[in-house]
Amino acid sequence: MGNDMDVAIVGGSFAGLAAGLMLARARRRVVVFDEGQTRNRFADAGHGFLGMDGLAPAEMQRRGQADLLAYPTARIIGSRVTAIAGQDGRFTLEADAEWLAKKVILAHGMRDILPDIPGLEPGWGKWALQCPYCHGYEVADQPTGILMTSPAAPHHLTMLRDWTDDLALFCNGHPLPDELRAKAAGWGIPVHDLPVVAIRDDGPSRTILLADGQEVRRSVLYLMSRSEPSCDLPAQLDCRTEDGMTGPFVSVDMMQNTSVPGVFAAGDLCRPMYGALFAAADGARAGTAAHHALLFSGA
Ligand SMILES: Cc1cc2nc3c(=O)[nH]c(=O)nc-3n(C[C@H](O)[C@H](O)[C@H](O)COP(=O)(O)OP(=O)(O)OC[C@H]3O[C@@H](n4cnc5c(N)ncnc54)[C@H](O)[C@@H]3O)c2cc1C
Repeated sequence: MGNDMDVAIVGGSFAGLAAGLMLARARRRVVVFDEGQTRNRFADAGHGFLGMDGLAPAEMQRRGQADLLAYPTARIIGSRVTAIAGQDGRFTLEADAEWLAKKVILAHGMRDILPDIPGLEPGWGKWALQCPYCHGYEVADQPTGILMTSPAAPHHLTMLRDWTDDLALFCNGHPLPDELRAKAAGWGIPVHDLPVVAIRDDGPSRTILLADGQEVRRSVLYLMSRSEPSCDLPAQLDCRTEDGMTGPFVSVDMMQNTSVPGVFAAGDLCRPMYGALFAAADGARAGTAAHHALLFSGA
């Protein structure tokens, strides 16, 4: 097939593989680059994805790859794309080698940036969680903490009440608006204002250490991480971004077009609210949109 493709896709997780599948089914030459660091890799199981609920993240990705590789015009390259340049009709990508593509789909996801609290990082995806739809069912009714990571974060305060009545809020030094403090009091949720200085994993439970030496036991901790695109390719291409609640994301229209002609984006990279099924849906839309663009440009 050579290195001259119709479409190059950067990122081979839910969004990138779904995009590739549409293009391969249209019998187009498509290459997916993936360095194998899916966002959910820290969790033992992924949830909420039809037909794959409860599977390990690596197995979900393996099944997606197998679906794509059943088509002879598709390739998956296990390399990082480090540079991208060009314009609609002819892009050049640097990965294991130099590749050419008429259209590009960016589906390389986001990197989570956790607050710098000793003991927190090893729990990410295990007992330090972000999304109750992904993992809340499995840890329902357990003693649960909410860790504020910014003044805007106590969104979980309202959300989590369908999963547990045993909640505590850790403001971590952030000011809590009066109206939320009143809400917490009304629901019987204790509020700890002081910064969290460390978290100790004591087996089935975790000890949250506060700045005054107080220790609070919780099994599970929810927090909103900050996030940023997992590589600088959107910046290399000069794609427009916008600010979401947890960080910047790439702007797209309803057909996943970025602000740069011939460049599409899909998945977490271009949405403020993430989820595997949402990413796959974006990917399918980006794949069909890139295919339409090829057809209508006569390529
Ligand atoms: C701990 C945790 C648990 C989660 N659990 C769930 C769950 O249970 N259910 C659910 O629906 N969602 C869950 N999510 C969210 C889910 O992981 C994301 O919504 C989903 O993975 C987004 O898919 P994506 O294809 O956009 O990107 P990603 O899954 O982030 O994949 C991007 C891929 O691109 C690759 N890549 C990045 N840069 C480059 C480059 N320059 N060149 C080549 N490859 C590159 C990466 O290595 C990665 O493989 C969870 C998230 C976290 C953090």
